Amino acid sequence: MRRVCSDTVALIVATETATTPLVVHFDDPDKEPVTCEPPAGRPPVARPLQMYEGRPAVCWAVEAAYRAQVGLVYVLTSPEISSDVTHAAYGVFRKKNDPYLQVIECDKKSLIDRTRQAGDVEVFGVPFSVLEIAHALTNDGMGGYSHALIMPSDEVRIRADHIYELHQEAQAHPDTDAVASWIERLRRPPYLFSQDFLNGLCEGVPDPPGRWDFAPAQPVAKEGPIPVPLYKVRDHVFGEEKLAPNPVEGRHVSHVLEKCGISAVEAVRLAKDGHDAPVDGASSEPPLNNVEHLLVSIARDMRTALDAASADDAVELDWADGFGMASRHDFPLFEKPEYAGAFAYLDSAATSQRPNAMLRAQREFDEFKNANVYRGGYPLSRQSTRLFDEARARIESFIGAEAGSMAFTANTTAATNLVAQAWGESNIGEGDVILVGLGEHHSNTLPFIMLAERKGAVIEHIPYDERGRLDQRAYAELLARKPKLVCAAQVGNTLGMLEPVAEMAKLAHEAGARFLVDAAQSFPHMKLNVAELGADWVAFSAHKAYGPMGIGGLWISPAAFDEMDPRGGGGGVVSHVGLDSYYLRPGPKQYEMGTPPVSQAVSWAAAVDYLDGLGMENVARHAAALTRYAVRGLQRIDGVTVIGDHEAPDGQMGLVSFSVRSVAPAQLAAFLGKLGVAVRSGGHCALPLHAALGLVGSGRISIGVYTTRDDIDAALAAIELCRRACEA
Ligand code: PMP
Repeated sequence: MRRVCSDTVALIVATETATTPLVVHFDDPDKEPVTCEPPAGRPPVARPLQMYEGRPAVCWAVEAAYRAQVGLVYVLTSPEISSDVTHAAYGVFRKKNDPYLQVIECDKKSLIDRTRQAGDVEVFGVPFSVLEIAHALTNDGMGGYSHALIMPSDEVRIRADHIYELHQEAQAHPDTDAVASWIERLRRPPYLFSQDFLNGLCEGVPDPPGRWDFAPAQPVAKEGPIPVPLYKVRDHVFGEEKLAPNPVEGRHVSHVLEKCGISAVEAVRLAKDGHDAPVDGASSEPPLNNVEHLLVSIARDMRTALDAASADDAVELDWADGFGMASRHDFPLFEKPEYAGAFAYLDSAATSQRPNAMLRAQREFDEFKNANVYRGGYPLSRQSTRLFDEARARIESFIGAEAGSMAFTANTTAATNLVAQAWGESNIGEGDVILVGLGEHHSNTLPFIMLAERKGAVIEHIPYDERGRLDQRAYAELLARKPKLVCAAQVGNTLGMLEPVAEMAKLAHEAGARFLVDAAQSFPHMKLNVAELGADWVAFSAHKAYGPMGIGGLWISPAAFDEMDPRGGGGGVVSHVGLDSYYLRPGPKQYEMGTPPVSQAVSWAAAVDYLDGLGMENVARHAAALTRYAVRGLQRIDGVTVIGDHEAPDGQMGLVSFSVRSVAPAQLAAFLGKLGVAVRSGGHCALPLHAALGLVGSGRISIGVYTTRDDIDAALAAIELCRRACEA
């Protein structure tokens, strides 16, 4: 990394509250700049905060300045957007207080007034007030920097190289007062002003009342590398869709939706029944209008094409379809008249629907068995205590765990936070390294980013290899840095890959690290066996696996348990309390503070029984066959990029994410929703991964035991209709 601009202060100007579109320039000079409009239907945002590749524009400027290794970075902002700008700027390196970076809040009015007072001085379009601030920063209390670099924050893709070359130019021509050579190339360039020039400019201008009042930042040590987050994701794995679309609602979109009186599932049924031509009044079916006819014919064409493409897989597909249809009857939601035959629920990775068996167990407990646990001597309470203990034992046996090795938590997120607090607080210190997968759900990164912030530890990301799996070579290299903790999902919620967490845990242990597995997306689809995984913690939620919301689990290895401290007190945590002393309950139960979610535990155990009744091998086989089918279908739609590699069985875990050219993820999900198809859209709480992929978000189809081929067909037809409407 070059460290050549350290005599320069960078002033990033992020005061622009106007909402005119952001212009994105590319590194490739032959490529035309692109205008990013705020997405239709979304409130406009200030320019420095407009998103590009999933990040506000101001982040690009901060990162470029960091990479060019200027002496200090200042961000000038106005009060209306100052908190968002501050958040974004510090967010680049995830530090709340970084001596290298300072945000200066300036009231926009006083900036304008000050420029007016100075007689409307503008140099290359930079107002006098900004030059004056740059002057103050290079001079005041800072030991004198020779140059001030002024960067408009809404110019994304200012590259560190640009700054570097600008700097070179200034060195080569010391007489040049302002180097504005980038005007040509970037249109709105970063400007480099020499201190002499600023001195001359500001000489004789009366001080503004109160002067520019900001505390000088501490100059940082000018040697040594500044950490720069590098995401290593190779383009070819993920397709070409690097620029997230900023669609303007297509002219035909609302018209199409208004006209379409049938759901996508109904269209699939009509296509299967042969009603693919406009039906005349003689038929028992109501006549189809043009849009409906189009949807039906898309569904028919898609199905015919997929029949051919699935020939080798036809037996599995039929079996999976039959399995889905049979399981569907166990779920009351699908029997509801408005949903029956008209609704494709493809968002089970967010939360699954609930089977009758689980609902009955919960209702029975709530109606007839409710009493608090571990405290009442009367029969009702004894009974609820027994049911609660049995539920715990049931979940533990389901995941191959020893009795008493799991704590009930509120969900996966509460489980990972428990690790960060009960283990992290006493085992992570200054400079310690924590490894997290680049594609982790925020639940499995944020608790540790926050922990690192509190402790001065360092977060490193495990990148993906060219197949879209966690890069095992890079992982081995990162382990050489002796991390204290590794966090990885067994199945990621965006790429949907089964990762080799057992092997990774073994390597982590050999390197002296503890290993946390986020099993939120694997638990619903495969037989978990915590003993075989050999990790230190395994976190999972009930609600993604046909259980209730509000309960999850954290399995804890004996070795990890020994290193954990309780992070809260109260009933449930202790077996005895004296005036100033207490005895903890043995085992992970000590993390269950207060009254636990008893009816949820009982109904979760019923959900687990339900899954066992279906057979986890069947559940996995069904998900794999329908994942393959969905991927095959998505790949046939023009403009759709499937994210990740789903060729091999480890990529067939019941979820697939994709982007659609010319359709923003949120718009796609809203469109599909109107046609009775529920898919997830957005960043899936995995924003670093999406940013690394160059996407603001993606769409995601995910599968539950009730998913049928018709559901997937409905989604595919609706996506194709949406694409056509947006591109019309
Ligand atoms: N990890 C992964 C991989 C997930 O998919 C999710 C849920 N989307 C979570 C963690 C968080 O689960 P919960 O909201 O139940 O805490």
